[in-house]
Amino acid sequence: MDPTVLINRAKKKISRFCMDECHAYCCRKGSMKITDEEFDLVTHSHGALRPEKGADGKFSLFFQGHCPALTDDNMCMVHKDKKRPRICSDFPIFLIDGNVAVSKDCTAVMQGILFPYLKELQMAGYRIAYF
Ligand code: SF4
Ligand code: SF4
Repeated sequence: MDPTVLINRAKKKISRFCMDECHAYCCRKGSMKITDEEFDLVTHSHGALRPEKGADGKFSLFFQGHCPALTDDNMCMVHKDKKRPRICSDFPIFLIDGNVAVSKDCTAVMQGILFPYLKELQMAGYRIAYF
């Protein structure tokens, strides 16, 4: 079984919930690590100062209120862009070296909405780690 199929189904399942009920919590909270190119895309025309690169070659973009690419109605302005930050397209379920990692800060995870998909992944032999 290809885990990406199930992971993509899980993400599709929560897409409306993300906007209507969670109100894009993950696009408002804290910061995200992104590359040079992703930084330019997300902050385009918003005049954000580029922070210093970390040892991993990525920037930490700290949200001031919310991500600069988030609209007032909780839409992501760069959602359809192929260069959208990788962390955004992966969140909240990541496939890392054949293992599944899930963000326990995600509202849908906290409310158990993704549980059936995670259970199915587990039954298929994937180890689920929460971070
Ligand atoms: S925190 Fe989870 S449920 Fe909320 S918007 Fe982000 S991915 Fe969706
Ligand atoms: S780029 Fe889009 S999905 Fe990523 S944090 Fe910003 S608004 Fe959210």
